[in-house]
Amino acid sequence: MASMTAQSPRYRGRFAPSPTGPLHLGSLLAALVSYLEARRHGGEWWVRIEDLDPPRTQPGASDAILRSLDSHGLTWDSPVMYQSQRDDAYHHAIEVLADLDQLFWCRCSRKQLAGQPVYPGTCRACRQPRGDAAIRFQTPDIDDAFTDLFQGPQRTALARDYGDVVIRRRDGLFAYQLAVVVDDADQGMTDIVRGIDLLSSTFWQRALYRALGHECPNHAHFPVLVDAGQKLSKQNFAPALDNNQATANLMQLWPWLGLDIQADTPERMLAEALGQWSPTYLHGLAEIAL
Ligand code: GLU
Repeated sequence: MASMTAQSPRYRGRFAPSPTGPLHLGSLLAALVSYLEARRHGGEWWVRIEDLDPPRTQPGASDAILRSLDSHGLTWDSPVMYQSQRDDAYHHAIEVLADLDQLFWCRCSRKQLAGQPVYPGTCRACRQPRGDAAIRFQTPDIDDAFTDLFQGPQRTALARDYGDVVIRRRDGLFAYQLAVVVDDADQGMTDIVRGIDLLSSTFWQRALYRALGHECPNHAHFPVLVDAGQKLSKQNFAPALDNNQATANLMQLWPWLGLDIQADTPERMLAEALGQWSPTYLHGLAEIAL
């Protein structure tokens, strides 16, 4: 896989939507914050479509998301990667972890695990492949700490607080935690800027980076948009963005980012936003109420 690893620039960030539906205001905010951060550093901004889970992928959503980004002036710097085309890379990562004896096969059902705050290690002894089983990464029993660029210092005792994580599901699909690390490492991402709902995945991902022999990137988690106490998401039926209203859509986001923008096209708005944008406005904020 080493040959696939992109040369790391000084700063490379990305937006990695799951195509379970069209872009909405919450995902536009995610794209925008990662874009502004990348451009503020004079860096690159890439897009990766996380179509890892065919049953959840909505036909046409990937193209619709890309069209929406384009309509809102958010242009990316590299061909779009699709996780549905990355099985070989994920297989390879599983082989690496198996060679290192850092995974095991697990047949525990959801019901068996219900009520357990972390996976209790039930199947740790199953080190040989077996059918109808998930694969779990054996989380190392270490303390880990990092400074989130928006949320500040984070610290955990990995095995105690997180436990062993599924990296390939029982139905054979690769899990998000593995795919995101393999892709971000292969694409040479230096900075992961995403919603705070993914902060709790970061310690697992850092452990996977290290196990696979990669350096951990920087992480920055920004507040998510919350409507009546719930994260704005496709699951909560957040309305799709109207691409013909791109300027008005962006207008809604500027105050939440502490920006006062006068321009009247998406491209000019983004240029003006870059002149004003400072991530300190979001520091320590966990949510933005609509
Ligand atoms: N695909 C994930 C989502 O749409 C984002 C993954 C990430 O940024 O790490 O929520």
